[in-house]
Amino acid sequence: MELTAAALSDVGRTRTRNEDSCYAGTNVFAVADGLGGHIAGEVASSLALEPLKELDARPPREAFDKIADAVRRGNRAVFDRAMEDTGLKGMGTTMTAVALHEGTLHLAHVGDSRAYLLRDGSISQLSRDHTLVARMVDEGKLTQEQAEAHPQRSILTRALGAERDVEVEESEIALLPGDRVLLCSDGLTAVLADEDIRRLAQMEQDAQQACRVLIDEANARGGPDNITTVVIDVAGEFGAPVVATAGGRAPRRRESQRRFPVRLVVWLVLLAVLIGGGLFTVRSATSRSYYVGVQEDGRVTIFKGLPVDVAGFALSEPLEPTDLTVEQVATDSIRRSLEAGIRVDSLDAARRKVTEIKEASGIEPGPSPPPSPDEEPSR
Ligand code: MN
Repeated sequence: MELTAAALSDVGRTRTRNEDSCYAGTNVFAVADGLGGHIAGEVASSLALEPLKELDARPPREAFDKIADAVRRGNRAVFDRAMEDTGLKGMGTTMTAVALHEGTLHLAHVGDSRAYLLRDGSISQLSRDHTLVARMVDEGKLTQEQAEAHPQRSILTRALGAERDVEVEESEIALLPGDRVLLCSDGLTAVLADEDIRRLAQMEQDAQQACRVLIDEANARGGPDNITTVVIDVAGEFGAPVVATAGGRAPRRRESQRRFPVRLVVWLVLLAVLIGGGLFTVRSATSRSYYVGVQEDGRVTIFKGLPVDVAGFALSEPLEPTDLTVEQVATDSIRRSLEAGIRVDSLDAARRKVTEIKEASGIEPGPSPPPSPDEEPSR
């Protein structure tokens, strides 16, 4: 198997620092997107890459087997450093790392940077996004289209450095000669759809040129974040695909069975909100945010806070129930929007929204008795 790789990272058009880090080695490749104030993000993303660089100096088979361990060591390094140095408190990073050996790719991934496979003119995402909106899509609370436009789409549910231990997503795929693997930070995917990436990534034969074209296009579309790409081209003769050795790891995809620590998630959410591209400040996000949603009993209600629910921990509280139930809402699309939470800027706007929904459902606005309770089983 012959690998040709290139990496390119760019600060983008609006940020002053580049907090992304990347590594394109012999058999190991990675992209990390740091989070934290001042220099903390840069420290986190570069620190987390160190164990991967060390691993790349080991025999390829060992690199292949131990890439997730190296990501876990990176987590511990960032976590320990953040504990030691108060100036770096709260730092973290995403990590999307791959090791390639004998025609097989081993992915170890945490966060919302991505790994893509480009094969025969098509594109597929190899990593899953560890974000709130991805979780809401999985749960059927948001459509893919809603998720892509969601203002809180960059809120992470996992990151390196936040806790002593981290759950690393792992998967393996068999490669074919001619495959191109792309690793990238969310600065690319925030402005380019998969289809754009597919089209641009195959325009250039040369890996370095492919990185250039992708980054130039992201900048042409505003470059709102740091942009990092690693392109790996696979060619040549392959040996037999790698299979786990006796006593070694079997290929697997490990997903969290444990409940994610609530406190961590809340801090990650607040951190992400703080640094989330200046879209939101904590104040506007939590004390000046309202949305119209649905309570457990089906009652349409005005909430204060954010329409997200992390590991069972709501970032909102019901403020003003209405006399409308979700069953009375006439259209499916409004019902789905309500279930996801319709965000508004003020309590007045929320009340106007409720009136609009009533009108759209053919219900007279204004005071009316609450709906008959026999629609709901009594408790
Ligand atoms: Mn980013």
